[in-house]
Amino acid sequence: MQSLRKREIKFLKGIGPKRAELLEKEFGIKSYYDLIHHFPHSYLDRSSIYKISQLYGEMPSIQLKGRFLTFNTVGEGAKTRLVGLFSDGTATIEIVWFRRIKSIKEAYIIGQEYILFGKPEMFNNRWSMVHPEIDSSESVGAMQGLRGVYPLTEKLRSSGFSSRTLHTYIQAALASIKYVADPLPAEVREKFRLMPLLDAMRIIHNPTDNNALQQARYRLKFDELFFLQLNIQRYSSKRNEKLQGFHFPRIGRFFNQFYTECLPFELTDAQKRVIKEIRADMGTGRQMNRLLQGDVGSGKTLVALLTMLIALDNGTQACLMAPTEILATQHYETISRMVAPIGINVKLLTGSTRKKERDIIHQQLMDGSLHILIGTHAVIEDNVQFKNLGYVVIDEQHRFGVMQRGRLWRKNTVPPHVLVMTATPIPRTLAMTVYGDLQVSVIDQLPPGRKPITTLLRYDNARFEVYKAIGRQLKEGRQVYIVYPLIKENEKLDLKCLEEGYQNIKDNFPSYKVAYVHGRMKPAEKDWQMQLFASGEAQIMVATTVIEVGVNVPNATVMVIENAERFGLSQLHQLRGRVGRGGDRSYCILMSKPQIAAETRKRLQLMTTTTDGFLIAEADLKMRGPGDLEGTMQSGIALDLRIANLATDGNIVQLAHNAVEELLDDDPTLSAPNHAKLIEELNIRFNKQIDLSRIS
Ligand code: ADP
Ligand code: MG
Repeated sequence: MQSLRKREIKFLKGIGPKRAELLEKEFGIKSYYDLIHHFPHSYLDRSSIYKISQLYGEMPSIQLKGRFLTFNTVGEGAKTRLVGLFSDGTATIEIVWFRRIKSIKEAYIIGQEYILFGKPEMFNNRWSMVHPEIDSSESVGAMQGLRGVYPLTEKLRSSGFSSRTLHTYIQAALASIKYVADPLPAEVREKFRLMPLLDAMRIIHNPTDNNALQQARYRLKFDELFFLQLNIQRYSSKRNEKLQGFHFPRIGRFFNQFYTECLPFELTDAQKRVIKEIRADMGTGRQMNRLLQGDVGSGKTLVALLTMLIALDNGTQACLMAPTEILATQHYETISRMVAPIGINVKLLTGSTRKKERDIIHQQLMDGSLHILIGTHAVIEDNVQFKNLGYVVIDEQHRFGVMQRGRLWRKNTVPPHVLVMTATPIPRTLAMTVYGDLQVSVIDQLPPGRKPITTLLRYDNARFEVYKAIGRQLKEGRQVYIVYPLIKENEKLDLKCLEEGYQNIKDNFPSYKVAYVHGRMKPAEKDWQMQLFASGEAQIMVATTVIEVGVNVPNATVMVIENAERFGLSQLHQLRGRVGRGGDRSYCILMSKPQIAAETRKRLQLMTTTTDGFLIAEADLKMRGPGDLEGTMQSGIALDLRIANLATDGNIVQLAHNAVEELLDDDPTLSAPNHAKLIEELNIRFNKQIDLSRIS
């Protein structure tokens, strides 16, 4: 494969520098390697020929076999077109060309037999077909079976490229390749019954039958997912730092006393299970790297606290990081209140902590008298040094940069155990792909007694009703969020914006105070506005999606999302999680333009029928792909997969994951001679990526 990456397509027969340049610009196709990895997005069945008399409405592209009876040029100027009347003996169809009229008229001969391939359409009560592919019937031997349809851009199309031209170039490239060195070791190929790589490449572009095609696709998907896994797992802390974690053998006074005397409620079964999982990890002597997924309100904070107490019981300090000052403060208040009776020293460190307090914190961290430090990213600054940091919990991980997390490791010679908590449910296949060797725990249960959130889909013309409903809630003393997709009006986008909305809301609810936050405000300003709302001084919060993360205002019972059609499902789910946090019945109102695509309507309707975050994340993955999913972008891992699909290829993700695990168990450093090709391929595929191994 290596040599194919060096062979440039501009030297390929028939392409030439101009077209080569265009392909590079449009698709980044530069080498033979790139070209043969430009896979068809679908296939057309060219195995059967239809009769014109059998045509019916809404058909895909099909084949017809017959002769032209006449050619006529009709219309004038820009509307000139060529119409050929085509007959197969059962009926006739009009074949229409708008371009290249002259050359087409010369190319096809009346009375000679041709095979046409195109999409039949009914127009003015007559069948017609526009710009079909045409072959003389003698040459159709080569045309049978499945035919790949290749991705094209408008630019390529208008420069004369068709799916077929691409196929011809790909064929020429494939024909010149006699051998490729397979990067996968033989044992993997055998175990997973993978077809040879070159065969797979040939078949995917020229499938003989569906079965072979599926096998070829399987091979290529497997490769893609395998290398992705290998890249994540190869330096995994699990392997390299096997003996290097803190060993927490006991549960001691802090945990026990808290559990028996201070626990404010019975833990849910899910919380208990997750705590057990974490505890088991901490007892192995290996460093823990665990991702804790739990829907908004599932009680992750308590899990964090109880497991921090285990760290304390084993003579180390613990630290909890949150992405915003508000969130850190909230955690600090909750936790210090809960542990007050058992004599634990908890402190808060954020950007606005005063110098005097800061000095005390630094001092106490160093002498070990500070047990738990809670804060924002201020806690990872270099001058913050711990005596013995054993455990770090990171809340709402996706707001933390990958690099920031890496800095934690430098705080100790022994790396602390790490728990990353996220309320963004990530489908299993995606988690496995993006977080590789991270262990995953899931809280899949909400504490009892929660009132469900009623989600409604309303169109803009029902705004008056919606405002009336908001008014009723406000009157009962509840608070309301209203979220906008934009801050300012944008001429190009017909969307509601916060500036206008703010004014509008003030006008409609003159007796209430309205707070607002958006991403372009200074942090202090933002905090101030948030505080207004959190304290109840403001009853309405007008915001962009910056309010997504973590804020807890139990008295807020209504979440209105403007232009909900513009948001991803996971994001809507996150926003919805801001309400339903108290004992009162809550509502999420999705406002949408009335004219939306059926697909979009389906998406929004799904929101009204479920509050299961995992189901929603799966649906989002299926509909929008992994790149759009929250948590994926921030992971720093490129997921521009060419052929594998994380939503539908879950089983291959699992197989590739296992294959890599097995491989690394046998040869952790990949130093066996038959693994040299693997390393080479890996380095080529991921040369631009950062080393994530020490981060999570
Ligand atoms: P999140 O997972 O979104 O961080 P929190 O930890 O903030 O959720 O918990 C949400 C609310 O549920 C808090 O008010 C918390 O006190 C409460 N809670 C947590 N665990 C339980 C439980 N087992 N039973 C009842 N309420 C609980
Ligand atoms: Mg939380």
